[in-house]
Amino acid sequence: MLIVEGLRKTFGDREVLKGVHLTVKKGEVVVIIGPSGSGKTTLLRCLNVLEMADEGTVTIDGKQLQFANKPSKKEIINFRRLTGMVFQAYNLFPHMTALENVMEGPMIVKRINKHEAKERAEQLLTKVGLKDQMHMYPFQLSGGQQQRVGIARALAMEPKVLLFDEPTSALDPELVGEVLKVMKDLANEGMTMVVVTHEMRFAREVADEVIFFDEGMIIERGHPEQLFTHPKHERTQQFLRRIQ
Ligand code: ADP
Repeated sequence: MLIVEGLRKTFGDREVLKGVHLTVKKGEVVVIIGPSGSGKTTLLRCLNVLEMADEGTVTIDGKQLQFANKPSKKEIINFRRLTGMVFQAYNLFPHMTALENVMEGPMIVKRINKHEAKERAEQLLTKVGLKDQMHMYPFQLSGGQQQRVGIARALAMEPKVLLFDEPTSALDPELVGEVLKVMKDLANEGMTMVVVTHEMRFAREVADEVIFFDEGMIIERGHPEQLFTHPKHERTQQFLRRIQ
């Protein structure tokens, strides 16, 4: 479903991605862990083409983007539609209700009519447990509820792959579980997901594969049980010792 080859990105004289290779099969959940500043967000942003990599290719569901070829704006927009991004800060439109936030993308980008967009948005908000909050504005919702709207909004665009960038980091501890539960349900339904998170329990329980990322590179990857219990690389061992 997702193939990343030789992805490189430099900011100024700092190489933030140093040739990343990654394959994610359909229905797989890959969790990326690693120290702050190691390039995890930049990697997700390149997959979603919010950031242009300098080199490398990303292939999603058979469609390829070659960064070195300087893709056109239209190619970028079309490619971006293949992924949905859930951000740390939910980035909802403050002047729109939960329902309107979820309807907006399909209506503007996919040109789906209002009736259909509304029906679909209602289904998605029900799915993330917000049936009774559909007509509320972001400021009336808790952080956990806002993030669930964020997930419904990403799903509304029917992406092939969902990308999560520390989706629970901004939440009060008691609200983390409700967001992880929605993510777990999606994983069980067969959604292909790449998740950057510090939630090690989620990684252990839900990930098909965990990747330890450091200094712009994949240092180690493996089944969660193997990576958490018997990390092979010294840097992985150090990182896991620090966070446990
Ligand atoms: P992580 O998600 O692992 O914390 P990031 O991808 O956010 O790491 O950042 C990796 C490095 O790239 C950091 O040193 C950060 O300061 C730098 N960086 C990220 N975005 C930009 C940008 N737009 N301009 C310059 N430097 C950036």
